[in-house]
Amino acid sequence: MDTILELIKQSGGRLTKTRQAIIRLLTGSECLLSGADILAGLKKLKLSPDRTTIFRELNYLTKLGIVVKSSINGKDCYEIQDEHDHHHHLICLNCKDIQKVELNSHLESQERQIKKQTNFRITGHALEFYGYCIKCKAASGK
Ligand SMILES: [Zn+2]
Ligand SMILES: [Zn+2]
Ligand SMILES: [Zn+2]
Repeated sequence: MDTILELIKQSGGRLTKTRQAIIRLLTGSECLLSGADILAGLKKLKLSPDRTTIFRELNYLTKLGIVVKSSINGKDCYEIQDEHDHHHHLICLNCKDIQKVELNSHLESQERQIKKQTNFRITGHALEFYGYCIKCKAASGK
């Protein structure tokens, strides 16, 4: 959390109450939060910025590479880009459950290679696997 706030200060950003609260919510969560989750979390903290403000904040944090955005079942979800807890997601198409999954380093070395080949400044990546979780698989009998 402190390193994140430091990074924002260094890049000339202001540490508004809302911004800090959003970062606290995201760092306190183990995995993806949807825009609605964040909105609800802020309300609990007695902060009620409008949707536009929240999405502007989330875009800002995504741009800085602090947050990664993934589109899950058509909804934008966010999580802290944490190199110590880097993972991908298994998403159940039936119950919408999200599980964390770790891959071996193959994809990360690929990322370095892509960086080199394209000279693109990659700030992060997201990868989701879609399918049916163990419960839904059993229920459908497949
Ligand atoms: Zn996650
Ligand atoms: Zn399921
Ligand atoms: Zn990865």
